[in-house]
Amino acid sequence: MLGRALAWTRPGRRDWHDGDERFARMTLVVLLGAPGAGKGTQAAVLRDRLGIPHIATGDLFRAAVRDATPVGLEARAYMDAGRLVPDGVTIRLLEERLGRPDAARGALLDGFPRTVVQAKALDAFLAGRGDRVAAALLIDVPAEDLVERLSGRWICRAAGHPYHLPMNPPRVPGVCDIDGSALIQRDDDKPETIRARLASQLADLNAVIEHYRSTGALRTVDGRQSIGEVSAGLLGAIEAIDAGAAGRA
Ligand code: ADP
Ligand code: ADP
Repeated sequence: MLGRALAWTRPGRRDWHDGDERFARMTLVVLLGAPGAGKGTQAAVLRDRLGIPHIATGDLFRAAVRDATPVGLEARAYMDAGRLVPDGVTIRLLEERLGRPDAARGALLDGFPRTVVQAKALDAFLAGRGDRVAAALLIDVPAEDLVERLSGRWICRAAGHPYHLPMNPPRVPGVCDIDGSALIQRDDDKPETIRARLASQLADLNAVIEHYRSTGALRTVDGRQSIGEVSAGLLGAIEAIDAGAAGRA
């Protein structure tokens, strides 16, 4: 569990068939938002409800850095500076992950695409599978709230489950509710890196938002609401898109 606000979430990892039947038609859902908007927090809820894996490129990069793989060695300097990792390596990493068996029926993407080049590469990759982005869900949080969100963020060492002090605390101080591992602060959640990330990433985010506005996949939810209210808004948006698709079928 991510905290009291999410107490209704079903725990554990599930495969696609265990997902909520109303969402059985869904394939690929993209979560959009600035750093700190709540993508990781909401992905944990949506993953269980949709029954598709949560794929976060930030988590993939952090694992690559930890394991000192070639991708990790390339990504590290960009991450430390709060800048985006170049598109080529990011797209390869994502496509490799989407090619794994657990993503065959769909995925919930968190932190990808972050540039229009990445968005178009994803469109082309999915078109090759006869598919497309089913929904691009924007969690909208004003820039002035993001520094506070990020500087209070703590994640668990084992799996990156996010908490916030004081807004979304764990039940036991310093310990993850879900897996019991210790909570740590990310290197790039220092105030100077936070400001660099926001300054360098918001223009790209706006361009990606416009991309999905033009494809018709964009839905926006007010991310200043409580965690539970944002979850309800996102699930409602997905349901509305799914109902629309069923109506046209
Ligand atoms: P946040 O949760 O704060 O939005 P992430 O965990 O998604 O941050 O990403 C951490 C860092 O990993 C980013 O600042 C960037 O350096 C890199 N990164 C993650 N996803 C991408 C991507 N799609 N394109 C380029 N860089 C990325
Ligand atoms: P992202 O993945 O978009 O960078 P996170 O899910 O890691 O964002 O959330 C950033 C921080 O804000 C975390 O500390 C999280 O606990 C907190 N948070 C997330 N959603 C909310 C919310 N609706 N209200 C208050 N705090 C939130």
